[in-house]
Amino acid sequence: MGSASSGEAIRNINDWAAGPRTTPPTSTSRKPVDDFGSLTFNEEVQRARLPKEVFRSLRRAIAHHEPIDHSVADIIASALKDWAVEHGATHYTHWFQPLTGITAEKHDSFLNPTSDGRAVAEFSGKELVKGEPDASSFPSGGMRSTFEARGYTAWDPTSPPWLLVTPNGTTLVIPTAFVSWTGEALDTKTPLLRSMEGLSKQAVRILKLFGSRAQRVVTTCGPEQEYFLIDRQFYFSRPDLINAGRTLFGAEPPKGQEMEDHYFGSIDERVLGFMMEVERELYKVGVPLKTRHNEVAPSQYEVAPIFENANVATDHQMMTMEMLRRIAPKFGLACLLHEKPFAGVNGSGKHLNWSMGDDVGNNLLNPGETPHDNIQFLVFVAAVIRAVNKFQGLLRFAIASAGNDHRLGANEAPPAIISIFLGDQLTDIFEQIEKAGSAKNTKHGGILDIGVSVLPKLPRDAGDRNRTSPFAFTGNKFEFRAVSANQSIALPNVALNVAVAESLDYIATELEKSVKEGKKLQAAVKSLLTRIIKENKRIIFNGNNYADEWQKDAGKRGLLNHRTSVDAFDEILSKENIAAFEKYGVLNERELRARHEVALEQYNKTINIEAQLMVLMANRYILPAAYKFLGEMAGSVTAVKAAGGTGKEPKKLLDKLSKIVDDAKSGVDHLQDLLDHDSDGGPAKHAKYFRDKVIPAMAALREAGDALETIVPQNLWPLPTYREMLFIK
Ligand code: ADP
Ligand code: MG
Repeated sequence: MGSASSGEAIRNINDWAAGPRTTPPTSTSRKPVDDFGSLTFNEEVQRARLPKEVFRSLRRAIAHHEPIDHSVADIIASALKDWAVEHGATHYTHWFQPLTGITAEKHDSFLNPTSDGRAVAEFSGKELVKGEPDASSFPSGGMRSTFEARGYTAWDPTSPPWLLVTPNGTTLVIPTAFVSWTGEALDTKTPLLRSMEGLSKQAVRILKLFGSRAQRVVTTCGPEQEYFLIDRQFYFSRPDLINAGRTLFGAEPPKGQEMEDHYFGSIDERVLGFMMEVERELYKVGVPLKTRHNEVAPSQYEVAPIFENANVATDHQMMTMEMLRRIAPKFGLACLLHEKPFAGVNGSGKHLNWSMGDDVGNNLLNPGETPHDNIQFLVFVAAVIRAVNKFQGLLRFAIASAGNDHRLGANEAPPAIISIFLGDQLTDIFEQIEKAGSAKNTKHGGILDIGVSVLPKLPRDAGDRNRTSPFAFTGNKFEFRAVSANQSIALPNVALNVAVAESLDYIATELEKSVKEGKKLQAAVKSLLTRIIKENKRIIFNGNNYADEWQKDAGKRGLLNHRTSVDAFDEILSKENIAAFEKYGVLNERELRARHEVALEQYNKTINIEAQLMVLMANRYILPAAYKFLGEMAGSVTAVKAAGGTGKEPKKLLDKLSKIVDDAKSGVDHLQDLLDHDSDGGPAKHAKYFRDKVIPAMAALREAGDALETIVPQNLWPLPTYREMLFIK
């Protein structure tokens, strides 16, 4: 095994295992843009294939969330099936997003035997609208006991069905929500859709005050995905990458990212081939990818789409992650979506760009050109500021996981403190609003004029960028940057929607009251904004979030600072959060408690798997190599002495090695003891035990293991090293 870890040898194995290193692109005369959406049941296909009335009611369902009745569903199902079968589909699946954080699918064939021994393809409205997967093997956080195992998947007409084409066949994929037979959400889509409805209602109230005709507001979302690519053969030689998604051992390489030569660097040809194929395949299923580039760490990359309706964007994001994983092997690569696959270099995040748009075409977070738009814009921004301040804990919960703990607060990712970067110009405007509101003697008769006269000068990208903020205003949207690479964006979206819905509700109620009392809208907005800024400005921070002083300053401001996920999990059960989730019909208390429990369980399972893997790797890979070297060194010392040398230097190395081997051995035994220890109590107690006892023991074992890596000879070392994995392409 030893010699196989050198780059050359691995390359040969790789050639044997993974086939050609680059798969030539399938030559096609069609342009990628022509292929866009060719495998989706999109509006164009719907119009062409559905009777006019049916088409209209489907579009109404999509635009206004009107229910679809049975007869209409039957006609849609039949058209959908014909379209799918013409494209070679034999099966369909309800595709859903359970609380595992990944997607789930159960395929059924269209095949229906006829009495004369043949078969026809059939698909009814009932089958389209509702599925019944057994729910008992999905996490439910105690909501559903195994004897009431029934779960339902429900067609989400707002997200277009698509075709999963593989070399061996084609499957029609129908995006669905997943609920228990009592109607409680067992997935991430249901609360997302509910939260979008909740926000829409409140936002429309405010738009109405400003004289808008808008009837709906949708949240929009464009997620930027960071990921690593390494040679697939290295991946297969690392049990930790296979089972934990990240390296649990690995000494820092001589060269890391300090040369700053990877970010936006020219893209390696094999990697570019991979990216192009991912794009081609995702275009076909309607995912509007836009950007590709090298990221900061060696072997790290990023892909970003054009923003869409947040529900569709969330489905498309899941499809993007799956496609990245699926295409990588074709190029002899493995795609790592973990938040921190390699210690010592940057981890991976998923910047969630988020905004609100109305149904008459306006982005509500666009500063705009006219005073009218500007006042309205300021109201919506103020709502977000208030929401993020009031619901810091909820937002922190939404990004909490064992994986993200390696990233948040490290030197390349935002801290665990939630704050907002507004940029100098917008901050200045809000400062003026705050001051002028109390001064009352502005010449132009009100602070809004000040805001307004400043605003038209505001360029689309207001001020400088701040890469350190967890939540930044970036010109016409907010960017939630603390979201992790490996997670679904559903929950962060839900958290934002609920928080902002509550703020919009508050603002709408205040303004409606003032207007009813005969106050002018402008005057009412003026005094309300002044108050909101005064009460919430502590959340605004434009400085360096990585600096130590910020931790202190934030403490003085009274901002939450949950350094570990274990601290953050309980936030979801705060009174304010439960009240807001219930008020906007997003999740009831039972559903929230379930999510709390699932989050804890996932944390515990993750750490438990990682710790067991470390024990395995130490006992079966690292220590055997170290013992072998120990034996060789002992032999060398004896031989040198027998030959008349002092053996002083070899003896020094032998002693050093022996000491580290002892550390590693006692480290692994200690970790094993901790894992054997029967800590009783619920998942919350377990989580604390893992955080306070197991994780420090893992760190100590890693230190010994990594020290061994630096002295055990290359030919004895059984694992590919960082130097190899991150730099050999
Ligand atoms: P930046 O360079 O500031 O990150 P980009 O223009 O590259 O900005 O956009 C990053 C992401 O933000 C893209 O996915 C983009 O589609 C998305 N985005 C742009 N406008 C909006 C919006 N109104 N709502 C949601 N996402 C948006
Ligand atoms: Mg960005």
